Amino acid sequence: MFISRDGVPELLLVLLPAVAIVWIVLRLVDLELRKLQPAWERWLVGALALVGGLWLVGVLACWFLSRMSEGTWFCPVCGALEERLTYFGFTVERWPPDRSRGSEQARRYARWFSATVPLAHAHGWTPVGCHGSFSRVTCSLTVDASVFHVAVPLVPDADVARGLVLRLASADLVQRQAMLADLQRSEDGPLLRLASGDAISREVFDQEHTVWLTEHPHWR
Ligand SMILES: [Zn+2]
Repeated sequence: MFISRDGVPELLLVLLPAVAIVWIVLRLVDLELRKLQPAWERWLVGALALVGGLWLVGVLACWFLSRMSEGTWFCPVCGALEERLTYFGFTVERWPPDRSRGSEQARRYARWFSATVPLAHAHGWTPVGCHGSFSRVTCSLTVDASVFHVAVPLVPDADVARGLVLRLASADLVQRQAMLADLQRSEDGPLLRLASGDAISREVFDQEHTVWLTEHPHWR
């Protein structure tokens, strides 16, 4: 479902459910009120119910608003990026990231991937960076800080680089997260050196990578 981003439809997504819930509650209260005698009691309880209803609309609207989140999503296999607005975990709207925002490393990796490993695959969308909602901001690793995506385009052995991507692509979403986290936690290894800016010859890379693989079975 796509909606315009002018703010009004998004506001309706929040307000309509809140108003609907309160309207149902007030209707039920109204049925009970009709049984009350004398009339001043009916008016007093009715006024209190109206004030309580308005307060409840505000509380519910804030809660529904907190279920809306906006942020960047990334496919770790091919480097594709997109911005998404989600509501209760469902995608309400998606759009390409502004060139002035987002990750240059992700775009560099995506260019390398399409030139070197043009692998057909189902995108494995993962949230990256900070995702904001009304009441909180949750942050995860950015692509710029991802050792894998910074280092792989710099690997001097194209076959090894291709093999690393194919290994990642063949894993399911949970395994992929574990593999990337394993690499991210590494305290040494040729990929970390490349990501840190070291230049490594193909021979040295292959030697160090063989040793690194023996200690990181996720990547074999
Ligand atoms: Zn992809």
